Amino acid sequence: MTQINPYNFVPLESRPDRSGYPGRLQFHKKRYSGMLKCTLEVLTPLISIDQRNSRLYQLKDTDGTLLKFKSGQRRGELCSEIKCFNFRRNRHGQIFLQGTSLKGMIRSVYEVITNSCLKLPSAIGYKNVGGHKNTECNDLHNLCSACRLFGTIEGDKLHCQGRVVFIDVVLVEGNLTPETPISNRSLSGKPFHFLKVLSSPKPSHHPTYGKKGQRNGPIAGRKFYYHHGKDTKFFVNEHEACHSIAIEEYAKVGNKFEFEVYVENLDKEEFENFILALELHEGIGHKIGLGKAIGLGSCCITVDRNQSSITIGSDRYQKWNSTKDTTWYSLKKDKEELPPALIEVLRLNKEDDDGEIGYPPDFRNYPNDPIDARGVFGGNATKGGRPRWPNDVATEPPKEPAPKVSQDQEAAWLKEIYDNELVFVDTQGNEIKRPRKACQSKKKLQEVGAWFILWGPSASRRALY
Ligand SMILES: [Zn+2]
Repeated sequence: MTQINPYNFVPLESRPDRSGYPGRLQFHKKRYSGMLKCTLEVLTPLISIDQRNSRLYQLKDTDGTLLKFKSGQRRGELCSEIKCFNFRRNRHGQIFLQGTSLKGMIRSVYEVITNSCLKLPSAIGYKNVGGHKNTECNDLHNLCSACRLFGTIEGDKLHCQGRVVFIDVVLVEGNLTPETPISNRSLSGKPFHFLKVLSSPKPSHHPTYGKKGQRNGPIAGRKFYYHHGKDTKFFVNEHEACHSIAIEEYAKVGNKFEFEVYVENLDKEEFENFILALELHEGIGHKIGLGKAIGLGSCCITVDRNQSSITIGSDRYQKWNSTKDTTWYSLKKDKEELPPALIEVLRLNKEDDDGEIGYPPDFRNYPNDPIDARGVFGGNATKGGRPRWPNDVATEPPKEPAPKVSQDQEAAWLKEIYDNELVFVDTQGNEIKRPRKACQSKKKLQEVGAWFILWGPSASRRALY
């Protein structure tokens, strides 16, 4: 099976455009302000820990003796205690994710969409980044799009406050696994999960970090971790847990968090790009929290249009005045506006489509072949894949009543057309999926939102028209 590197890079474009900071509280015509109420749904197990708050756990081998290193330079030495963490809680005891980590996650997507600057890991060898270095955003009159919107600080020289504020993200639906932290109920205090090793190769690993795998050349781009499947195996046995950490609890698939984002004085383009970066589109998702490389933290965000409130600076008065805007959601940019390389690293069907994602079993044998556009070592793909997006989709069911059918037939309307599949909806509202190939000769079957008659035994129903 093809082994895919856990991360890939979105190539940098031409030099970023830089301009002046528009101010936070100054009045501007046609600027959007207000609050977006959002839900974050967990798509793969999610872990957020408080680094300052841990307990120590002494690892034991399968025979119950204290664990010793089995290989490497420390072979035979006692494997030291590992740190064990609970999920982060706020002072009210609520389970939460920090607003700042959410902000960082959205910013990294916004940076790609707007071709903004890039924060490089320190002491990196890839100096040539074509004007993308974030230290070039050094003056209030010379800032890239992301620094203008999310803010930037440069020592004592520059302090530019962001115009988007993320409030902490609180768990509102579902419980953590397990529901009671083990340290609170068990005498042994044995942690719930020992995580796979989280470390990743250093940026000096040019086959992945260098553009086209080159040493000392330009950097490959902006780093993103791929989404694994929802059944990703992120833990190891206790006797394999040296160099790792342990966790007592995690947010599970389907858990929902809620948060608010406050926006101030965004111009139309900023607002359009911001909603796109925040919500993305179906089939692509974000990553937050710990263990991105081992498949943790995939999530998707939905903006609740009814509970959000956006105002727009009014044209009529030359003073602070704004009116409620009800059409703001229509400003969200279409998915086709996302760069294809960003779609590749954010798509949720990556593992289903391409193979297993993960580090090689032994870090000392990390491959030296460059990774291709799909994250495959030594591969030759020049472009990434796509999410399972329909080629055509009906926005509403047909207005006409369903056609009459005889026995062994069923009426259904065509809802979505995919590359290889047609999705019908029957009169009960159930989805029926059929291979597109079987219907290829029926030209009319390209018509979404129309009724069709399916016939034949249910396993092999073919579509008539
Ligand atoms: Zn910048």
